[in-house]
Amino acid sequence: MVVYWIMKKFSIKTFGCQMNVHDSEKMAGILKASGMAQAEDQSDADIIIFNTCSIRQKAEQKFRSELGRIKSVKKKRPGVKIAVAGCIAQQRGAEIFKRAGHVDYVIGPQNIHLIGDMVKSEGVKKTALEDNPDIAGLELPALRGEKGRAWVSIMYGCNNFCSYCIVPYTRGREKSRASESILREIRGLAKDGFREVTLLGQNVNSFRSDTDFPELLHKINEIEGLKRIRFVTNHPRDLSDRLVEAMERLDKVCEHIHLPLQSGSTRILGLMNRGYAYGDYKEKIDKLRDRMPDISITSDIIAGFPTETDKDHGDTVKALGEIGFDGIFAFKFSPRPGTAASLMEGQLPEDLKAERLHEILRIQDGITLVKNKGLEGSIADVLVEGLSQTDGDRLTGRTRTNKIVNFKKDPGISAGSIIRVRILEAKKHSLKGEVV
Ligand code: SF4
Repeated sequence: MVVYWIMKKFSIKTFGCQMNVHDSEKMAGILKASGMAQAEDQSDADIIIFNTCSIRQKAEQKFRSELGRIKSVKKKRPGVKIAVAGCIAQQRGAEIFKRAGHVDYVIGPQNIHLIGDMVKSEGVKKTALEDNPDIAGLELPALRGEKGRAWVSIMYGCNNFCSYCIVPYTRGREKSRASESILREIRGLAKDGFREVTLLGQNVNSFRSDTDFPELLHKINEIEGLKRIRFVTNHPRDLSDRLVEAMERLDKVCEHIHLPLQSGSTRILGLMNRGYAYGDYKEKIDKLRDRMPDISITSDIIAGFPTETDKDHGDTVKALGEIGFDGIFAFKFSPRPGTAASLMEGQLPEDLKAERLHEILRIQDGITLVKNKGLEGSIADVLVEGLSQTDGDRLTGRTRTNKIVNFKKDPGISAGSIIRVRILEAKKHSLKGEVV
């Protein structure tokens, strides 16, 4: 008798931050290592995974509508298995089975290493939600989605408990990887042709294991073949003088930092439990610019935090002008269940939050455009990422300062290469250039 073995296929839909994107790469790596293949399309998959995010209500709503849509797929093909991973999985746990009977597995972000065994188990609904104190010791394969640049997790979890954030509850307390394990991974990536690594952590600059973060950067900087080092996301309180010095001295560390401010009002920062006043933050920015005048600085802003007055909002607007960020991610405050801020008195109406957000974005767009205009005529090194998503005749890439540059397609230029580009025209969110 001939037995045919049909390779199972998986599909992963990712919501949320870079942490989730890289967790999805790791789940894909684990599933591939256990003999499965990545489906070209969700409709072709035997296992459908949703890697979810609950940082804002919008991301959660998007996931819920996808989960509702997939119900009909399961009706047509009852053999399909559905897994919910990520922060919503950790927060809601087995309750997800009650609300969505078509879900088979619920797996939290600290347990993604179990995904391979989980999807092989037949018939029974399963959860993996335990705290995993050993997460920093795991070395998991990753199926990376990009050429040339790679994400590398160096620490997990967060100890900060900002009052609006669910991460410390879903990803647990901070745990940093051993430096040798990180260096081994990055040496392997450099050998495989990756030119840029982005070190990932919810609070990356508080990394500490057998060495601290500035020292780790020194060691990574020595890796042959590697050209660029980035790291996200930083907490302003943990931006030490030694880190600023390392950024200035190390040639592979890019001239860009993402440093979430969240609000220009010290009173609101206190309610957010951010651990710094606006003046402290501004001092750090001055230090960075003092050592690296051309550094690009991006940030996160929350509009309409509970009790935010016109004066508090005015402080944020003033901060945008004073600091002159290269770009920001700004959002309306979104009360997340289980966080201290969701229970605070003085929640603001949606239309006021929207109005303030609109003003913040309008002002920042003007600042970004002026900054980008200043780059016209200059020449920059660009790491090519691939075809532009909006124009099939153009390639897209990033400068060391993390600016997106689009330029004419050339058969001699492939994703992952670093080329020289002259900046011809500045736009709000990108630059147009020509290959030099
Ligand atoms: S630093 Fe604050 S916002 Fe960032 S993950 Fe930790 S608790 Fe959340």
